[in-house]
Amino acid sequence: MGTAADPLIKEGTGRTVWDLDAYGFLAGDCPDTANPSLWRQSRLCSDHGLFEVTDGIYQVRGFDLSNMTLVEGDTGVLVIDPLISAETAAAGLALYREHRGDRPVTGVLYTHSHIDHFGGVRGVLPDGAADGGVPVLAPDGFLEHAVRENVYAGTAMARRAAYMYGAALPKGERGQIGAGLGQTTSTGSVGLVPPTRDITRTGQTETVDGIRMVFQLTPGTEAPAELNIHFPDRSALCMAENATHNQHNLLTLRGAEVRDPRVWAQYLAEAIDRFAGSSDVAFASHHWPVWGREQLIRFLSEQRDLYAYLHDQTLRLLNQGLTALEIAESLRMPPALERAWHTHGYYGSVSHNTKAVYQRYLGWFDGNPAHLWEHPPVEAARRYVEFMGGADEVVRRARESFAEGDYRWVAQVVHHVLFADPDHAEARRLQADALEQLGYGSENGTWRNFYLMGALELREGPVGTPTATTSPDLLAALTLDQLFDSLAIRVDGPRSWDADITVRWTVDGRDPVTLRLHNGVLTHVTGTGPAAAEPDVEVDLAEADLRALLTGGTDPADLAARDGVRISGDASRLPALLGHLAAPDPDFAIVTP
Ligand SMILES: [Zn+2]
Repeated sequence: MGTAADPLIKEGTGRTVWDLDAYGFLAGDCPDTANPSLWRQSRLCSDHGLFEVTDGIYQVRGFDLSNMTLVEGDTGVLVIDPLISAETAAAGLALYREHRGDRPVTGVLYTHSHIDHFGGVRGVLPDGAADGGVPVLAPDGFLEHAVRENVYAGTAMARRAAYMYGAALPKGERGQIGAGLGQTTSTGSVGLVPPTRDITRTGQTETVDGIRMVFQLTPGTEAPAELNIHFPDRSALCMAENATHNQHNLLTLRGAEVRDPRVWAQYLAEAIDRFAGSSDVAFASHHWPVWGREQLIRFLSEQRDLYAYLHDQTLRLLNQGLTALEIAESLRMPPALERAWHTHGYYGSVSHNTKAVYQRYLGWFDGNPAHLWEHPPVEAARRYVEFMGGADEVVRRARESFAEGDYRWVAQVVHHVLFADPDHAEARRLQADALEQLGYGSENGTWRNFYLMGALELREGPVGTPTATTSPDLLAALTLDQLFDSLAIRVDGPRSWDADITVRWTVDGRDPVTLRLHNGVLTHVTGTGPAAAEPDVEVDLAEADLRALLTGGTDPADLAARDGVRISGDASRLPALLGHLAAPDPDFAIVTP
């Protein structure tokens, strides 16, 4: 229907968080440096503006990695999945209002627990709006998963996500051209307004601002907490992120818990059964809708078959003794599915999805005792390179492989040179060249980004991690249990082997929680049963003060001075305890040791 007049979406300081024109170059013909299929997908994903899905349902697309959907109610508009950043979500809402009038937001719905579906909520819901009666709907378990996935392994995921989405890569024919699922992630302010209304069962119906919705819960599919929505009055079906125009990830390359393709396929079948017969359009929070009942049934059926096939055939092959690498290499999709664009591996891939299924059922070990106790990368690399005649000889031979176009082998073998001798300049150049060629050829957007990020860091050194892992809203949404867990994850084990520190917290007069650092492990126990050790120090305080202390907002000395904080016993144990925590490394090396 139109797009924003100003292509630059900025935050308060003037920094650009999203540039609508960044992918204008995709209008040109596909160059030699890109896979034509990915080029086509990226061109479709970069199309931006406000789009009509059906009467009263609109989508803002191309304003972030994900789509924001707007459903018009009696008096206002329900926002489904408000993007990653407040700035992009606000720009999307403004565009909608420009075309559809200044409707107030009368509800928000998160389809699932990934940040690209809730992070921008503060851009559509001003402070306090949730308390003021604007309902916020989400699937059962949303908050726990939204927070956990981004906090426990968050630092490593963010570093790997920088490779996966290639946000630091220059955009262009030789750089980042998209991520398959969407173009890339915006870099504005991330927030979280907790849900006020949980969807806890399939078949549950809710009405918001006169909009009737019937829900299907789909836990364990694309996200641990996710749902599909049917709009009976508009014959429309929202498939969240369960059916999009690509083969999705069973295990995202940034790292995650492995998803379950068997359950995923079952829920797609259930969605067809329950809703397809009364739907004329299916849309999702990425990509574009499918119109027509027959077309959407076919689309959903092919998506179901895609995940079921990956699951069943991986298991068939592993039961014949093939290992993950062998299955990834030999499994081919049925031609009928391969002919459908939406099953292509722009985001997930047959290669890494079959490995994910293997991992889900059998784990990292392929059963061969030769792989049970391998030397770690640097130790192995030194020995390989020595056996192969030294670094220069390996590089010389690898150049021949490069000339023959065997870039996979170059990447595999020069990796050993780099881990044995990271400063070998010629090896760095050759490896960067090989990774680039692999990236240029890849149909998968995230593979391309991984390859090109590796090449970039080999040429220019580490470029760091552009996205933050946590925000104040996310930290505030951690339960105290999760907060204590996240501290335990930071304990420097070896440095704490001999420490024995016990602190008992009484938070807002609730059951005391005893935190003990002992044997290098920080455990916490609620109540005063036999598992709770005798405290060295007891602290009576408000939850806000505890959160401030544990998230670095205050230090133990200032804590004691706060109103309502009572400390009895050995107060020096508090700073001692915090002294055992180590900081994670957000910029760890990946392509070099
Ligand atoms: Zn998403």
